[in-house]
Amino acid sequence: MTTTDKAVPMAAQRADIDDLFWQDDYEPITADDAFLAEVVAKADLPALLAALAAATGDTSGLVEDLRPPLTPVDTVGHPHGGMTEAQQELARRLALDGLRRLRDEHITSVDVLPDDTVQHILTFLTNGNESWVPSLRHELDLAPDKGGAPSWRFGELAPGREFEVLVVGAGIAGIAAGHRYAQADVPFTMIEASDRIGGTWWKNRYPGVRLDTPTFGYSYSFAQKTDWPHQFAQGAEILDYLETVAERAGLADHIEFGTRLTRAVWDEAKGVWVVTTVGSDGVTTERMFAAIVSGLGQLDIPHIPDFPGLADFTGPVMHSAEWDDTIDWHGKRVAVIGTGASAYQIVPAMVDEVAKMVLFQRSAPWMLPAPNYHDTVDGTFSWLVRHVPHYGQWYRLWVTTLGIPGRFHSVEAEEGWEGVPLSVSRTNQKVRDELIGRMAEQLQGRPDLLELTTPSYPPGAKRMLRDNGVWAYSLMQERTTLETSPIARFTPEGILTEDGTLHEVDLVVCATGFRPSDYLDGVEIVGRGGVEIHDFWKGDTRAYNGVTVPGFPNFFMLYGPNVGGVVAGSLHFMIERAVEFSLKVVREVLARDIKAVDVTPEALDRFVAWVDAANRRMAWGQPYVRTWYQNASGRVSQVWPYTNADYWEITESVAPGDHEFIA
Ligand code: NAP
Repeated sequence: MTTTDKAVPMAAQRADIDDLFWQDDYEPITADDAFLAEVVAKADLPALLAALAAATGDTSGLVEDLRPPLTPVDTVGHPHGGMTEAQQELARRLALDGLRRLRDEHITSVDVLPDDTVQHILTFLTNGNESWVPSLRHELDLAPDKGGAPSWRFGELAPGREFEVLVVGAGIAGIAAGHRYAQADVPFTMIEASDRIGGTWWKNRYPGVRLDTPTFGYSYSFAQKTDWPHQFAQGAEILDYLETVAERAGLADHIEFGTRLTRAVWDEAKGVWVVTTVGSDGVTTERMFAAIVSGLGQLDIPHIPDFPGLADFTGPVMHSAEWDDTIDWHGKRVAVIGTGASAYQIVPAMVDEVAKMVLFQRSAPWMLPAPNYHDTVDGTFSWLVRHVPHYGQWYRLWVTTLGIPGRFHSVEAEEGWEGVPLSVSRTNQKVRDELIGRMAEQLQGRPDLLELTTPSYPPGAKRMLRDNGVWAYSLMQERTTLETSPIARFTPEGILTEDGTLHEVDLVVCATGFRPSDYLDGVEIVGRGGVEIHDFWKGDTRAYNGVTVPGFPNFFMLYGPNVGGVVAGSLHFMIERAVEFSLKVVREVLARDIKAVDVTPEALDRFVAWVDAANRRMAWGQPYVRTWYQNASGRVSQVWPYTNADYWEITESVAPGDHEFIA
């Protein structure tokens, strides 16, 4: 089979479609049946059947017996959502017919679908899980009630009212907020401390940086790029995407670069936030905003442990998120501290080009098999994206569907399970055994390494990494030392471990993570009654829906506490829903012509109790586990233990009983 490399045609923006990457027309199919059969043989069947049903308007083939069973995923995803061989055979026949129809009837575009067609296709893809459907409609360009975009405009609700919102940060969250607030015509200013768009993807530019979740689950519902080059996008590709989104959303005029938020004080009488910012020139500015939307990330503040003697080391020390491009590490002796998601990308990217690699491991990571981790998108996929109208979007929706249950079932603790502290349930133990077996295969001949890299905690208790063999390869290189003796101190020459070994190195990379519990560190937010937000939290970050905090009216956090998905869900979905929730609150303020809305302490307590109860049932919530998902007191303050569908539901409206409306 031959496929061309021709790029997907430039997206046409259409005012009535909520997608900055919407494409009206696709390339006509001219290929013969044999070629089409080869395409079908390699395609993802549920996504293709959905796309073809939408394009032809014929949903008759999507019968109950053909629905993908969505077999729960332990370690590796089941092809076609677990469809049986017989289902796959029938699906391929249907798909081939559908492709022939596109060709013979010259179908190259599809418009928004009738509601019953959308419903039929979503019932098919979700195997009848109707409770998931609203959250999926939120993602589907072709749904007549897609949602997401505000249905109201500032001028209609509050003509002439002086009202300006401050959006903090131009990363994934800030861009989402900017786009939605612009759509509602709500006046806003966006500030960004650095001089570029991109947030975490601008800061993290270490060697090997890329996504470690599938690319097609990592885009905005309102900017569904489909011509991604890699299955797991490289950092630069994501940065480029974010810049393109910001440009298409027309955000440039709203952003003040080199401007950092340092303080915001709620003025009760005026009902405004008095905001202090500092420019890169050091000049302090004070101004007033009616509301603040914070897009400051959870994984924003680098954690460099206070190693004794750190200052004595004569070479450079850099954190993974503060990579210094001017330092040439090639041919040098390099130490990498940490074995989390960042180290896992840095070490394989450097190992072949350094003189020596010393990797300091405190705990071994779990790794999920992902043989395609470094692969480009294949030719068949690109062909489908170019020729089947909205195939890329349907594939994205299919990935999102699979992400709703995710791998929850494999991390839920079983009451009375005897395998603790190594596993939390029978399924979890099965995952453990499978993953260890896989490592054993990769580390053949190195039982020493297998012992050192076998985690002593349950799979899923910490973030699981993607394994295509490069980690084992890196560890097995002669120039690599895996050091598990704790770091005693730094010396001028290198790092001394507690077993008395001195590792002489030229450069130290601290891939030691972030301080998510110190959320909003460096920023003072003073709310009602003069209470500062960190004093309110006392080290335990909490927010209603992950967005609002009692006593801090009209203050919203995007991707705040307890909304991070770790075995399921989509980061963009959670951020977008937080933005939409904030806009719903702002709408209340405008429509009621009041100063502000504040969430009640009772509502926050209820939300936290609900989230805590579920987190306690998960691997990461067990008392014998330590992970950055928890704060200093051990409470899981970062993770969202429910599904996207659940978050869709709780962010759908501003419950009057949970809020105080401040006139
Ligand atoms: P991390 O997962 O928190 O890992 C930090 C590592 O440093 C851990 O191995 C930790 O050991 C170790 N460490 C911390 N303090 C130490 C000390 N005093 N001595 C020795 N070792 C120490 O940080 P990260 O790798 O930067 O990743 C953080 C999160 O960022 C990820 O979980 C993920 O959500 C995100 N991330 C995503 C991507 C991606 O999508 N591509 C890439 C990178 C990061 P312990 O495990 O024992 O604590």
